[in-house]
Amino acid sequence: MTATQTHCPYCALQCGMTLTPEIPRVRLEPADFPVNRGGLCAKGFTAADLLDHPDRLLTPLVRKEPGNRESPLREASWEEAYERIVTAIRDSQARYGNDSVGAFGGGGLTNEKAYALGKFVRVALRSSAIDYNGRFCMSSAATAANRALGIDRGLPFPLADLAQARTVLLVGANPADAMPPSMQYLDAGRAAGAKHIVVDPRRTNTANGAYLHLQPLPGTDLALANGLLHIAIRENLVDLGFVGARTEGFAAVQKAANSYWPERVERMTGVPEAQLRETVRLLATEGPSMILTARGAEQHSNGTDTAQAWLNLALALGLVGRPFSGYGTITGQGNGQGGREHGQKADQLPGYRRLDDPAARAHVAAVWGVDPGELPQPGRSAYEMISGIQEEGGVRVLLVLASNLVVSAPHSNHVVDKLRALDFLVVSDIFRSETAELADVVLPTAQWAEEEGTMTNLEGRVIRRKRALPPPPMVKTDLTFLTELAGRLGRGEFFTDEPRAVFEELRRASAGGVADYAGISYERIEASNGVFWPCPSEDHPGTPRLFADGFPTASGRARFIRVEHRDPAEVPDRSFPYVLTTGRNMQQYQSGNQTRRVKALTVALPEARAEIHPDLARRHGIADGDLVVLRSRRGVATLRARLSDGIRPDTVFAPFHWPGANALTDPALDPHSKMPAFKVCAVAIARAGAP
Ligand code: SF4
Repeated sequence: MTATQTHCPYCALQCGMTLTPEIPRVRLEPADFPVNRGGLCAKGFTAADLLDHPDRLLTPLVRKEPGNRESPLREASWEEAYERIVTAIRDSQARYGNDSVGAFGGGGLTNEKAYALGKFVRVALRSSAIDYNGRFCMSSAATAANRALGIDRGLPFPLADLAQARTVLLVGANPADAMPPSMQYLDAGRAAGAKHIVVDPRRTNTANGAYLHLQPLPGTDLALANGLLHIAIRENLVDLGFVGARTEGFAAVQKAANSYWPERVERMTGVPEAQLRETVRLLATEGPSMILTARGAEQHSNGTDTAQAWLNLALALGLVGRPFSGYGTITGQGNGQGGREHGQKADQLPGYRRLDDPAARAHVAAVWGVDPGELPQPGRSAYEMISGIQEEGGVRVLLVLASNLVVSAPHSNHVVDKLRALDFLVVSDIFRSETAELADVVLPTAQWAEEEGTMTNLEGRVIRRKRALPPPPMVKTDLTFLTELAGRLGRGEFFTDEPRAVFEELRRASAGGVADYAGISYERIEASNGVFWPCPSEDHPGTPRLFADGFPTASGRARFIRVEHRDPAEVPDRSFPYVLTTGRNMQQYQSGNQTRRVKALTVALPEARAEIHPDLARRHGIADGDLVVLRSRRGVATLRARLSDGIRPDTVFAPFHWPGANALTDPALDPHSKMPAFKVCAVAIARAGAP
């Protein structure tokens, strides 16, 4: 049996692993790939359990009575499934226009599939209605990085640089649970004397090992960052040489920072002044230093401005573009980076080009062989698209790929109502997810070990996903599904389901764009453990580290952008007196559609646990292990309590891997990124059954 080296199907670390087909199962072993160096987490080790899982979808499913979603799903041929989908698309577009049919993609799709999906919607459906679940994940940090640095690449340096940094500030990031193999770099740095500072309302496993743990009230991170900048200015810790030579706009930011004096910031955030001062002194004087943000800082109704505030601090301290130093954001989904570069975003074309840029439209249209005028204009962002279902100009037929919206979208009761209101819903997945249960047609798609393609990990390293075994007979990859569907819509000549051919086209489409893949080939990836974009030509070495010589902005300088604290869209009051914040557990991934089916993972953590401080629990007569009812203005969730003195007494934590947490969350959108406010909403709590 031949061993195939590929990568984990889950998170953005994209750990290398070797798959060897054996009878009766595939043998999965960690590989010595640069990011994981022989390590895997429990999710990665058990990933092959899903390949022959009894829940696996093996044929298309359609409703027994067409048009009646109360009737059961039954097995069908692909031909019957296509017939129903094509009829629904044609009817809808004839009655309501092209934009009445849309697609919702995912950050788990390969680059080839993300690219093909964006092209399918614009060229085969001629619709503007497309967005993806990365809008819920990376959009705030991406928007902030584009504004400040002119480019959005999660980590602008290799992960291994973390081991060389002497001070690392992690804001709303918990890699010890979310991507354990990455901790080897932080652990190596700490063993060599580095100091790590964690900003998190919970004492996570990452915070447990840190030198300092700052525990702000959720929703006050921007004030915290501006407060650190205030201290840096007052204590002459700003790198004025760097600021003068390589940046612009500092004066306005400096002015804004004036009003974030330490006593005020301590009152706003709950972080003691002494910790504020120690943090900024360490960052400024014990370098090289890094500031890394993740979803805890970004998933807010002011998420873009919050990421911007951390970027402002990194620029003021002169961290960016220096060795083993800088600002980065830790991407979460497997292809969260590549998934946001190749055109499945509402406003974007491949190469991270803007859909409203005439030059970008002309370039991509030429590669696609269509007239630029045929390309639709930007559509609605993810939550706006779902919320606009059945409204004027909204979507009525939706194709969902690699997403389980019912569990992962905010205000999930509203999302369910909207999905039910669709004229027709198609879901492509490997299991009958909660979203698939609402569909008219469910399509069985190939898994990671059954397909070829590329992924781009959290460092911007483009890697190969390789096929170790064929998919089951009736299962197709999404590339095949999109190609065959395009053919039935009369646009087949624009599509191919050959991954290498799609990648070659993607290279041409991205050439000259910000995310330039023109010089990356399957062979180069194979030969060098991945290639870092931008890589504009075949003789270009790729770009592991950005910003050493300049910034891809109009002036070549990084931009400071003045940002001010605003209260979260929803704050606690007498009816809903606590803050709910959501996040991850080590054993689960995203909506749990896959990992909730893995026995070893569910044995380790069988259900969602609401983390509650003992003081808060006492006030409500709650004991460890009790069922508690959480209520927000939008919904109710019942979870088992886990008491922990590591969480703030005014805050409750709930993981989002199970249905429940997102029944509570607030869909208030960040005005710049359209990111929902997953990390703060107001809730009430009671012991289940309490009067
Ligand atoms: Fe997979 Fe991420 Fe775990 Fe690595 S850290 S094994 S990529 S889930």
